[in-house]
Amino acid sequence: MQPYAAGVLLVGLWGTFIYSARKRWKLMTVGGNDLPVDRLGDRFKKMFKFAIGQARMPRHKWAGIAHMFIYVGAMVMLLRGLIMFARGFVASQDFGFVIFDQDAPLGKLYSLIKDGFVVLVLVGIAVFLYYRAIGRLKRMTLNFEGYLILAILTTLMLTDVLYDGATAALRGHGSLFEPLGSYLASFFKHSDASTLHTLQHIGYWGHVGVILLFLNYLPYCKQFHEITSFPNVFFSRLTPVGRLPKTEDLEGRLEREEPLGVSRIDHFGAKAMLDFFTCTECGRCTDQCPANGTGKLLSPKHLTVDLRDFAYNNQTALIAPKNGNGAATQAADNGGDDSGSHAPALKDLIPDVIKPEVLWACTTCGACETECPVFITYVDKIVDMRRHLVQEKAEFPAELQNMFRGLETNSNPWSFPASDRAAWAEGLGVPTMAEKPDADVLFWVGCSASFDDRARRIARAMANLLKMAGINFAILGEEEQCTGDCARRAGNEFLFQMLADMNVETLNNYNPRTVVTTCPHCFNTLLNEYPDFGAKLDVVHHSVYLSKLIKQGKLQPKNKINARVAYHDSCYMGRYNNVYEEPRDTLKSIRGLTVLEPTQTRDRGMCCGAGGAQMFKEEEEGTERVNIRRTEQLLETKPDVVASSCPFCQRMLIDGLSAKDRGEVNQLDIAELLWQACEPAARPQTETGA
Ligand code: SF4
Ligand code: SF4
Repeated sequence: MQPYAAGVLLVGLWGTFIYSARKRWKLMTVGGNDLPVDRLGDRFKKMFKFAIGQARMPRHKWAGIAHMFIYVGAMVMLLRGLIMFARGFVASQDFGFVIFDQDAPLGKLYSLIKDGFVVLVLVGIAVFLYYRAIGRLKRMTLNFEGYLILAILTTLMLTDVLYDGATAALRGHGSLFEPLGSYLASFFKHSDASTLHTLQHIGYWGHVGVILLFLNYLPYCKQFHEITSFPNVFFSRLTPVGRLPKTEDLEGRLEREEPLGVSRIDHFGAKAMLDFFTCTECGRCTDQCPANGTGKLLSPKHLTVDLRDFAYNNQTALIAPKNGNGAATQAADNGGDDSGSHAPALKDLIPDVIKPEVLWACTTCGACETECPVFITYVDKIVDMRRHLVQEKAEFPAELQNMFRGLETNSNPWSFPASDRAAWAEGLGVPTMAEKPDADVLFWVGCSASFDDRARRIARAMANLLKMAGINFAILGEEEQCTGDCARRAGNEFLFQMLADMNVETLNNYNPRTVVTTCPHCFNTLLNEYPDFGAKLDVVHHSVYLSKLIKQGKLQPKNKINARVAYHDSCYMGRYNNVYEEPRDTLKSIRGLTVLEPTQTRDRGMCCGAGGAQMFKEEEEGTERVNIRRTEQLLETKPDVVASSCPFCQRMLIDGLSAKDRGEVNQLDIAELLWQACEPAARPQTETGA
């Protein structure tokens, strides 16, 4: 076309893009490069499945399909872009690196596919235009930038067709393999060569120019995810979802006055920064967030976007050379940013960028992380910021103080005397590990089922079932201490590590073959987090263990229970540990029982509101309670019983039923229901849950 002009355009605009991208890289690694490079095979597999294969997009029907059209179309158009760049340097406008030349078989096939995707991309753009302008999808960021990006994409498609149409008209004939261009050429049949050349140049330079300008715009807009989502998925977490990273050498950090949590933007490592850069602002996370849905300030999307914008606005100061303390130089302390404002780059993020109420509203349910198409994580970042508030500033909701004190003095969040821990088992003849160190199964009871009057019935039902199945089991009794899950999620890593060390020592001392627990929080901590403290345990949740005992014929639910049972998934068993079928299998094994599914169920099941230490604090003032919203969803199925497999969920749902004045609906754990179905002298099934 015009080699010199094409050369200047390509070198100039690629050069400015590389300059911007280099600065972003420096910003990304300002807090250190922690990008993981282990298990490369698994990382490639995940990237192919979720970044290239877009495996999470079908969760969102029309927006997902529209995005797929645009995404695959963009992939197809990449080759077209290369061909167009090359045509800037050659005279023939049929050039296509020989194999994709206009009249080569592959070139024809590619032209046909390309035209098909031009149409699909335009359809996708129309769908998103509809969601922005007419059917306003609230979860999306409905600002000017979105329209600009749609306009850029539309221009790219239309200039492509214009170029093809003018080129076909100049050639004097169209082609079946180039339907859009050929159709447009039919409108140009009376145009002279000079007009056609002008149209061809508008199409060509418009297409190539917009590609390069868009490339330069990418690092400054949300579409940056078109570049960063691939590495973000590649470097995403391969460790269990429910495992929070351990802060190593806490005492040493304290002595060296190193951060014990995240208070500044440069305390986040490269992976967290890459997360911020990659947010597409689709709002799928916030859409599923129970805190946001009940009126709390927390919106995972805005948390991510606010941190990203803060980093972007302070980029210049943040990437300035460092002094000996690892802090940015005077320029950073004084501010200086890309936007011209002078916000200090290294100021504390809380409360100016992120409000404490945002952090304390999170239930750690993981719904946001399950939804995010580009695998951004939130719970780890929220807990990291809570760690700063709790361990460095001692600023946290006052009610948590009781929980911390209880754990410190009596190893349970309610400060019950440790001597009462096994009181639930009175009369059942359950041995302790000290009495029976060779027991095959350790029944880890957990604080709730040990001390809460209502939850103790779960422990009793479970013990009865284990006895009935002939399992050689024992409990720790007074030797059991809280796993520390609630302390850890509340940001008190010191306290958690203290409890973890003591529990692991006890567990390793007895070394049981299997640990069974009725609490998903204990389960998650014992299975996924205690290995960081030296535990090697085979941990099974009771929902899985009971279903196995039924399949083995060791438990036979002979008693009929005529009841409609709505099942509520615990976040820590479902989303965190992918256990959905076994509790349902257990319920379905009971004759007469019908299992009902609320609209939000399984991996989209709504949190009960207890996790992340919420159980031990009040919900934010003026907002709806999460447990009441969840109870309403379960009641929509018109159940006789609301079932769960977590003592915390049980407490929240009992409170929800009572707040809704629906005391006639029972709340029962699956172990309680199964025991009713197995019990030799069956009790009446109407036992109230309240
Ligand atoms: S973990 Fe749950 S409560 Fe916390 S931000 Fe995510 S969706 Fe919201
Ligand atoms: S964090 Fe993920 S789900 Fe949330 S808006 Fe960004 S890309 Fe969408």
